[in-house]
Amino acid sequence: MAIDSPITPLPSSEFRLFVERRSGQHILRCYQCGKCTAGCPAAYTMDIGPRRIMRAIQLGMKDEVLESSTIWLCLFCQTCYARCPREIDIPRVMESLRLLAATSGKRAAEKDIRLFHRIFLSLVQRWGRVHELTLGALYNLLSGHPLANATLLPRMLTRGKLSLLPPRVKWASEVKKVFDKVKAVEERAPL
Ligand code: SF4
Ligand code: SF4
Repeated sequence: MAIDSPITPLPSSEFRLFVERRSGQHILRCYQCGKCTAGCPAAYTMDIGPRRIMRAIQLGMKDEVLESSTIWLCLFCQTCYARCPREIDIPRVMESLRLLAATSGKRAAEKDIRLFHRIFLSLVQRWGRVHELTLGALYNLLSGHPLANATLLPRMLTRGKLSLLPPRVKWASEVKKVFDKVKAVEERAPL
């Protein structure tokens, strides 16, 4: 089935109902105006833009959605939500899709993107914000490309774009508490 198929969405798609429960959004409210994709700053990097993701969920196309790069490339910037005439919180939908993809073992279209997210979050958990140098180094090592973009390093360091030392964030302990709370919630109500 094509994503832009004109057929009527299945009223009982288990996948759509799951996403609706998890995100609190009513997916069938989307009438495909495309304002979300038109305003999305990351749409040019995505294999299926936000409008088409919404349509694919309506059609119950679980594999196409969960294996897309889109759900991992969304920046959660909220531009689409602000523009949506149906007031659908698309970032919340994307978040639910990520969770489902991560727990159902789907392979993302973007190779190593989950690895990037895992490292990013573990650094935020540890220091309260990300340390770009550590992020780049760990990502390169764990993805098997230790020298990727290495030539940019000296210039970025001399221009002050990268810091050698990890950040000192005064609210780091508060950030840790947020991670602990999320973990406790997940343990109480697993997907
Ligand atoms: S802006 Fe809203 S209604 Fe329009 S396509 Fe996107 S999600 Fe659907
Ligand atoms: S929240 Fe995600 S989908 Fe929406 S505009 Fe931003 S990057 Fe695009």
